[in-house]
Amino acid sequence: MKALRYYKQKDFRIETLAEPSPGPGEAKVKVKWCGICGSDIQEYRSGPQMVPTKPHPQTGMSAPVTGGHEFSGEITEIGEDITGFAPGDRVVVRPTLPCYQCHYCRQGRFIQCVVLATLGASSNGAFAEYAVVRGDCLYKLPDHVSFEQATYAEPLACAVRGVERSGMVAGATVVVLGAGPIGLLTMQTALACGASRVFVFETVERRRKLAEELGATASFDPREGNPGKLIASLTEGRRADIVFECAGNASALLLADSLSGRGSTILQMGVPSEPVEFPFYNLFMREKTIIASQGYVNDQFQTALDFIASGKVRCDPIMTSAKISLDDIVAKGFEALTGSKGHQHCKILVTPGMV
Ligand SMILES: [Zn+2]
Ligand SMILES: [Zn+2]
Repeated sequence: MKALRYYKQKDFRIETLAEPSPGPGEAKVKVKWCGICGSDIQEYRSGPQMVPTKPHPQTGMSAPVTGGHEFSGEITEIGEDITGFAPGDRVVVRPTLPCYQCHYCRQGRFIQCVVLATLGASSNGAFAEYAVVRGDCLYKLPDHVSFEQATYAEPLACAVRGVERSGMVAGATVVVLGAGPIGLLTMQTALACGASRVFVFETVERRRKLAEELGATASFDPREGNPGKLIASLTEGRRADIVFECAGNASALLLADSLSGRGSTILQMGVPSEPVEFPFYNLFMREKTIIASQGYVNDQFQTALDFIASGKVRCDPIMTSAKISLDDIVAKGFEALTGSKGHQHCKILVTPGMV
């Protein structure tokens, strides 16, 4: 079968591999669609980051591995000891592989697992015709949820965790920085969880429009005017209760400070690659809190799928640009997303089948 192998930065190759077969406790999934994640782009641009260069402590795998972790498909074969699933089932796959045995896993804090592995990074993923996955990673799709929509369960689960960790209460005033896929999903999750108004800051006009179409109260270009004063004027001087930083650059964290009010919380969901400066005096005097949120735990993946199934979060408008075939993934996927026009895309979905 064909698979995209991550060797190192700017070196991803389509190769032919033997079709994998499921061992005990595993299922073989025929991949329908798999999204290209921001983390895949990072891996291509400046990896290796998530892909291990020496054997991973849980899976024993290191580069090259098959990439791709935001995927849906159909079960074609099940190994021994799998119950509740059968060939023909439509599924979405949670790509995280907690060990369920370490101190953190025993407390349900699976994302903090000391040997956490992830499909598409430290175990083979789904930029391939088939993926073999552990039974605990399978989630059945309701009939009305399409395979394309289901690929959003993974990034949406990150948004669900971010909102849960923020401690947001109903009626909160929220700001989201960055209207890429994670920002747009976080914005909708905050609204679904009772935010009274959500203001979005984003430099790309097309993404600002998308944010408004998906329910943002208003959207602004952070380079224009004085964003802090603008938000103060819209919130009776109080500014935001919660700022979700989904842009991941140094200036975004400073912007988050100017947009957030007394006793507010800044949720760090973007990943600045360099150390950043932050005015801790403001944090102290206004008793602000900064919380990092990374990934999700198993329940949050199910919540994400429920949000998609109920229509509380809409993915279709985010699937703006491209659906491409696995054969074209390097040129029309990774090169397009890392090129000068990369920001014009929002999410690219890849299929090993026909586009
Ligand atoms: Zn992802
Ligand atoms: Zn663990």
